Amino acid sequence: MARVAFIGLGNMGGGMAANLAKAGHDVRAFDLSDAALTRAEAAGCLRAADAVAAVDGAEAVVTMLPAGTHVEATCATILPSLAPGAVLIDCSTIDVATAKRVAAQAMQAGFMAVDAPVSGGIAAAAAGTLTFMVGGPEDAFARAEPFLSAMGKAVIRAGGSGAGQAAKICNNMILGATMVATCEAFLLAGKLGLDAQAFYDIASVSSGQSWSMTSYCPVPGVGPETPADRDYEGGFAAALMLKDLRLAMQAAGEAHAQTPMGAKAAGLYEAMVADGQGGRDFSGIIEQLA
Ligand code: NAD
Repeated sequence: MARVAFIGLGNMGGGMAANLAKAGHDVRAFDLSDAALTRAEAAGCLRAADAVAAVDGAEAVVTMLPAGTHVEATCATILPSLAPGAVLIDCSTIDVATAKRVAAQAMQAGFMAVDAPVSGGIAAAAAGTLTFMVGGPEDAFARAEPFLSAMGKAVIRAGGSGAGQAAKICNNMILGATMVATCEAFLLAGKLGLDAQAFYDIASVSSGQSWSMTSYCPVPGVGPETPADRDYEGGFAAALMLKDLRLAMQAAGEAHAQTPMGAKAAGLYEAMVADGQGGRDFSGIIEQLA
């Protein structure tokens, strides 16, 4: 088992670090929040005084931070102190350009690096059932894979540096757009006199089926239990969906890609967040549309 540094022990990182410790790794944890560090200690990690202390002698360094600026600043701080042969694994959701820049800086300094954002929320992070989409050279992927496997159910290489982030924002752009489409279809169905359960039974086995419909139905009492059954509490916050859609729009602008559905979904989530609903589950957009 290896010494692993884990930086960023929030909603996601807390559970992920706990799973690395549970797998037998010697996890040196750091976060700016004392409460997060106390929870990590209770989960079997060792508290580090700062990021540099966390990476001392570590074979792998995992970061799970809010945004690109945090990842870039943290990597600049720790790079001079990394042990020879260490692999940097950034699991945060950040913009593709920053992910590529951070990987290039790490590689220039002689280290391996991957971007490895996740699909699956806080519950999957705690249960160790995340999906990792990984960008980076094949040798870096091979070094990172055993650590990611301890935290997830699927670890898939998407391509070179930045490809993991590209896969993540494209996936979530589909999710944002299909959730809005599913919500408006349920609302129209209701106005046309259709029973929600009857429409679900039909659409979920017809061509209108999607993950937003059958795994995350936005209508309470219909389909499997989802945040809709808890008044849209918990789950995947609308503010995080907006963050991912903005990253997708930024990437689309830089790549000169046409993403009209993604842009429309971003605008709708912007309105939901501006309405003070950013902390509610993203499927709660059905109430905004209603
Ligand atoms: P969070 O805000 O709960 O946790 C982030 C943690 O990072 C906090 O504990 C904060 O104190 C810490 N932090 C910030 N700057 C730091 C620094 N310089 N050094 C050390 N610690 C620092 O966020 P989260 O929900 O855990 O999300 C983390 C990442 O995962 C984000 O990029 C997010 O987009 C992505 N993500 C989240 C979810 C989700 O459902 N929450 C799902 C998939 C991906």
